[in-house]
Amino acid sequence: MAQKITGPRGTQDVAVSESYKWLLLEEKLRKIVDQYGFKEIRTPTFEHTELFLRGVGDTTDIVNKEMYTFEDKGKRSITLRPEGTSPTVRSVLENGTLNEGLPLKAYYILSCFRYEKPQAGRLREFHQLGIELFGAQDYTADAEVIATAAKILKDLGLQNVKLNINSIGCPNCRPAYHEKLKAYFAEHIDELCQDCKSRLERNPLRILDCKEEKCSRIAENAPIGLNNLCDECKEHFEGLKKTLDAMKIDYTINTKIVRGLDYYTKTVFEFVYDGIGAQGTVCGGGRYDGLFEELGGNHTPAVGFGMGMERLLLTLEAEGISLGEDTRPDIFFANIGEDAKVFAFTMAQKARDEGMRAQSDIMARSLKAQMKYADKIKARYTVVIGDDEISNKSAVAKNMETKEQVTLDFTKSISEQLK
Ligand code: ATP
Ligand code: MG
Repeated sequence: MAQKITGPRGTQDVAVSESYKWLLLEEKLRKIVDQYGFKEIRTPTFEHTELFLRGVGDTTDIVNKEMYTFEDKGKRSITLRPEGTSPTVRSVLENGTLNEGLPLKAYYILSCFRYEKPQAGRLREFHQLGIELFGAQDYTADAEVIATAAKILKDLGLQNVKLNINSIGCPNCRPAYHEKLKAYFAEHIDELCQDCKSRLERNPLRILDCKEEKCSRIAENAPIGLNNLCDECKEHFEGLKKTLDAMKIDYTINTKIVRGLDYYTKTVFEFVYDGIGAQGTVCGGGRYDGLFEELGGNHTPAVGFGMGMERLLLTLEAEGISLGEDTRPDIFFANIGEDAKVFAFTMAQKARDEGMRAQSDIMARSLKAQMKYADKIKARYTVVIGDDEISNKSAVAKNMETKEQVTLDFTKSISEQLK
């Protein structure tokens, strides 16, 4: 026997018996983002590498370590998207979508690819729901994006996912803060991890959220960004807090959250769940007023989030929440004999044309085995068809739960008779 081939490390199959969980979740997410006016955008799975070098930033872990980059046969450098924000901005700029009116609200549910160390909640191909809101500078836009995530989590029944917010300033106030941070961390340079040593010059903000214990200990006493905001950023943050308070959305101010890219400005936030181990950040987002310019567009304020679908499912499971059950057949047509087999087949088709979920035997099984199968797939009704039923154009449908029997007239609508 030939050797079996396994899926690549860090990828996950969704089995046929599990996929309904994804469908139910996606349906719910789409419904909620639609309530806020977000419309779906679809972009390609791969992009020019340059997009992410500029759009994600070359000081980030994503660009430095995690990208799936390859040369295609035309010798172009191509990258599987590690995130959805820069492709969305690229598409909106390329297609002139902003001309359709502002604010522009886009969402996506798509797979992302990052070469990471696989573990629970951390995959090499994972899925994100993302929303992006373009053109609105006001703090109410930040509040709306946060409210969308909060409503999703609330409607899913997740009460223990906590919101953390912070502001990381803007190009007016951040340079001075960066200098303060650099000066502070420079005094501790020998104690920092290798990554943070290189972050010190290029992006000292990132040291604040380093996961290494020695770095986070030093970061404890680092100058705090919120104390170094310009008046505009301060007012923006106050406005956001006021709006969240008015909407009764609970939050904690966490000055250690950064989204260390240059184009991130003002608001950053995370929704964190403690019950699924270290990979507890279910959703991360913030304002990125500099990205459009970075990608060759005009200045366009923007705010959005990415929500990890696998982590969302793990969280639901940890909280014992089910979004519903898989679909089951409305009716199973069993047969006795060769003619009945074909007839049952046509009856199943008739039922489907009436909008029902219907199945018949395609395994040439014995009647006993067919009934066992109907039971296994949890068919609501079963009908046994033999020669008599064919000539009478009628058969008995049995409700498998109540054992109640209904005599079906095949010349009439099946779904109507089983209502
Ligand atoms: P982390 O700190 O966990 O690496 P991140 O800051 O890299 O997260 P983002 O780029 O903000 O994550 O992505 C948004 C969300 O996508 C995360 O909050 C998380 O829920 C999910 N996510 C990110 N990377 C992965 C991954 N490798 N596997 C599964 N989900 C992921
Ligand atoms: Mg990451």
